[in-house]
Amino acid sequence: MSLPKIELHLHLEGAAPPAFIRGLAREKSIDISGIFAEDGSYAYRDFRHFLKVYEAATSVLTGPEDYRRLTLAVLEESAASGVVYSETFLSPDFCGGRDLGAWREHLHAIEEAAAEAERTMGITLRAIVTPIRHFGPDKAKETALCAAETAGRFVTGFGLAGDETVGKPKDFAWSFDMAREAGLRLTCHAGEWGGPDSIRDALRDLRVERIGHGVRAIEDLALVDELAERGIVLECCPGSNIALGIYPGWRRHPIGELFRREVKVTVSTDDPPFFHTTMAREYDRLAEAFDWDEGVFRTIARTALDAAFCDPDTRARIAKLLEPDHA
Ligand SMILES: [Zn+2]
Repeated sequence: MSLPKIELHLHLEGAAPPAFIRGLAREKSIDISGIFAEDGSYAYRDFRHFLKVYEAATSVLTGPEDYRRLTLAVLEESAASGVVYSETFLSPDFCGGRDLGAWREHLHAIEEAAAEAERTMGITLRAIVTPIRHFGPDKAKETALCAAETAGRFVTGFGLAGDETVGKPKDFAWSFDMAREAGLRLTCHAGEWGGPDSIRDALRDLRVERIGHGVRAIEDLALVDELAERGIVLECCPGSNIALGIYPGWRRHPIGELFRREVKVTVSTDDPPFFHTTMAREYDRLAEAFDWDEGVFRTIARTALDAAFCDPDTRARIAKLLEPDHA
């Protein structure tokens, strides 16, 4: 579907085109051939193995210049799918090992690439800083310091990525408090591998306004009603959930029912090449599975823009791109 799209949930390294990572590995004579399938795509068995393959792919990204090129490669893919505004998760863990100076250098390179993409591809990017949950709360504090020091026009949010089954949201409350005080807006992965309680924990203990995934709220209809009433936005990534086996197919994915129950759902790709997806493919599959028409997708894009972690001027500028009569 060629509608203009807003994407809120995208891991920059997870969006790295395999050909880009292979090329970089070749330039640096790093052998990571084991992470690719015969057709050149990323190969993994399950979620744990996916995280390992993901980290191996990420290991070839070793400096700001790599991240500048990565950002351009990723935004090119997004723009080709009709994405006009995107938010990406960035981890100081991968960008400079949580050293503030190194983080600033990486961020500068990424921001430069984003500015170039805005000029040449018409896509706007903002960043959400994420600690990696399975690296633990102490490293998250260092990440929160990096986020707070660089909060501004480009770094606008703070979240939590990584293995959702490790630890509890409240272990990260200190980091989220620091990010909130720095003016960052908050989201957290929950309700993907964890059940409805993981969503309740994130809302209560981290006071986030969006939930990354959150689809397993469907197992508790009282929670579904609460999400609808409070206007909590879900960053749904159906193709990701299906690729990782959380749901057996598109028609069985809860996004249709959540939308029907007036929860603010949005659509994103998470780590698109790992899940053999793109924003255009997500839209096409959802249209098929739920008989959604253009009106539904326009509502979803508008919901996503309203929930975007950007300044009012940027929101107003992007809103014009979503208008039906925009050329
Ligand atoms: Zn994610």
